[in-house]
Amino acid sequence: MTRAAHAVERLAKRLCELVGESHVFLPTAFYLADETETRGLRGQADLVVTPGEAGEVAAVVAACYRSGTPIVPRGGGTGFAGGAVPLDGGVVLSLERLNRVLSFEPALWRMRVEAGVRTSDVRRLARENGLLFPPDPGAAESSQIGGNIATNAGGPHAFKYGVTGAWVTGIEAVVPPGDLVSVGGPVRKDVAGYDLKSLLIGSEGTLGIITSAWLRLMPAPEVALPVVGVYADAGAGVGAIEAVLGNGLPVATLEYLDGRVMTAARAGFPGSLPEGTGFAVIAEADGSASEASSLAGEVQQVLQDGALTVHAPAATPEIARLWRWRDGVSHAVTAQRGGKVSEDVVVPVDRFREALQGIEAIGSRNELESCSWGHAGDGNLHATFLIDRSNEAALARAASAANELFALAASLGGSISGEHGVGVVKRGQLARQWPTRALELHEGIKRVFDPENLLNPGKKVPR
Ligand SMILES: Cc1cc2nc3c(=O)[nH]c(=O)nc-3n(C[C@H](O)[C@H](O)[C@H](O)COP(=O)(O)OP(=O)(O)OC[C@H]3O[C@@H](n4cnc5c(N)ncnc54)[C@H](O)[C@@H]3O)c2cc1C
Repeated sequence: MTRAAHAVERLAKRLCELVGESHVFLPTAFYLADETETRGLRGQADLVVTPGEAGEVAAVVAACYRSGTPIVPRGGGTGFAGGAVPLDGGVVLSLERLNRVLSFEPALWRMRVEAGVRTSDVRRLARENGLLFPPDPGAAESSQIGGNIATNAGGPHAFKYGVTGAWVTGIEAVVPPGDLVSVGGPVRKDVAGYDLKSLLIGSEGTLGIITSAWLRLMPAPEVALPVVGVYADAGAGVGAIEAVLGNGLPVATLEYLDGRVMTAARAGFPGSLPEGTGFAVIAEADGSASEASSLAGEVQQVLQDGALTVHAPAATPEIARLWRWRDGVSHAVTAQRGGKVSEDVVVPVDRFREALQGIEAIGSRNELESCSWGHAGDGNLHATFLIDRSNEAALARAASAANELFALAASLGGSISGEHGVGVVKRGQLARQWPTRALELHEGIKRVFDPENLLNPGKKVPR
C-alpha cells in the first residue's frame, strides 16, 4: 500500500519534531532487508526513524498509531524470518540509538540495558567481570539484545543454559497506542500476574517495542573445552550424539554439521579434517578446571567410538577460532550458490535421525541441493536448500521444499521454528501444529495489544 505523499510528509514533519530532523530519513537499502535477502526478500517503507530514548519511542508509536501508519521495529537486521523487513510501507523504527547500559551490578549478577545494545557487548561486559550472559546467537556482533528478546534467540549453548528468555527478568516496552510499560524488573521471581513478559519475549515486534531489559547473569564457568568428533556419515554421527545423551554427559553444547556443510566450511576449519568427512559433532564440557577436563575426557571417549578423528582444542585462542568458525558456517553455506532458503525446524530429539533423512528426501524431490547443521541436543535443525537467487524456478522449488519441511516437522511432533521465529517466511504455518482454539487465542492476544494491527503487520500471522 502506498501512502499518499502529503500524509507521509505530514508524518515526517511530526516525527522530526519528536526526535530531531537528523533522525528521520528516507529508507536506505540496509533498512529494507534482513538475512532473508539470501532468498530474495526485500521490502519497502516510507520513512526510517531512530529515536534516542524510550520516551521518544513512545511518542513515535503514538504519532504513527494516530495516523494509521504501520510501524516495523528493527534491531540489528540479522533475522532469518524477515521479521524486520517492512512489507507494507510505513515507518521502520530502528532501535540503534538506544544503546546504553543503564545499570550493571556484577556482585548481584544483573544488568539492565537498552534494546539497541549489541549482544556481543552484553556478553563482553559480563565476561570482563567474571560473569556469563549465556545466550550466544551466531550473529552476536550485529544483533541487538532487543532483537534477541523479540525472537527469543537461541544458540549453541542453549542446550545447557536455555534460550534468551530464560535470562530476562524484566522488560520495558512501548505498546499501542504509544504507552511505555514495564513488566518484571530486577527480580528473579514474579508470578503475580499473567506472564506478560513472556508474551513479549518472542513476539517478533508484533505486540510491543522493547526499549530496555533487565538481564540475569551467572558466574562464568572457569573453563570450557569443546571436543569435535568427525564421522564418515550421518549414521555414525547421530550414533555419537545419542551416546552423549544416553551416557548422561552434561555438556554445554551438542552441535552437528552434515557432510555438505563440512565441505562448504572445510577451508576455515581450525584443525585437519580427514578425507571422507561426512558429519561432525561439537560437544563442549564446561565448569571448574577439574570438572571441565574430566567431563571433556569422558566426552572424548564417547565421541571417538566410530569416529574418523577427534579434535580437542585446549588453548584459549584455538577454542575461540573453533567457535568463530562455527559462527561463520551459515555464510560459508550461502557462498556455495549465492543464496539459500534456510529454516530452523525443531523435532523431539528421538526423531532427529528421521528429520535428517526427511530433509535429504525433500531436497531430492524438489531437485535442490540440501544440507543441514544446528543444535542436535535441542533437536533444532537449520535445514537448508541452496539456490541461485536469480533463478525464479529454483526459488519456487525452494518455497515448496520449505513447505514440505514444515509439514515434516509437524508430523514428527516438532515445531516449524525453534529459533528464528515466524516473521514473514513462515506466515500461516502455525496452523500445522496448533488446534483451532489455540490459534484463536493467539489472534485474540494480538488484537488486545494492537487493535489496529499497525505493529509489524503481516508478521507472525498464525493462519
Ligand atoms: C550468521 C548468523 C547466525 C545466527 N545464529 C543464530 C543462532 O544461533 N540462534 C538464533 O536464535 N538466531 C540466530 N541468527 C538469527 C538472528 O541473529 C536472531 O534472530 C537475532 O535474535 C535477531 O536479532 P536482531 O537484533 O538482528 O533483530 P532483527 O533481525 O532486526 O529483528 C528480528 C525481529 O525482532 C523484531 N525486533 C527487533 N528489535 C526489536 C525491539 N527492540 N522490540 C520489538 N521487536 C524487535 C523485529 O521486528 C523482527 O521481527 C543468526 C543470524 C545470522 C546472520
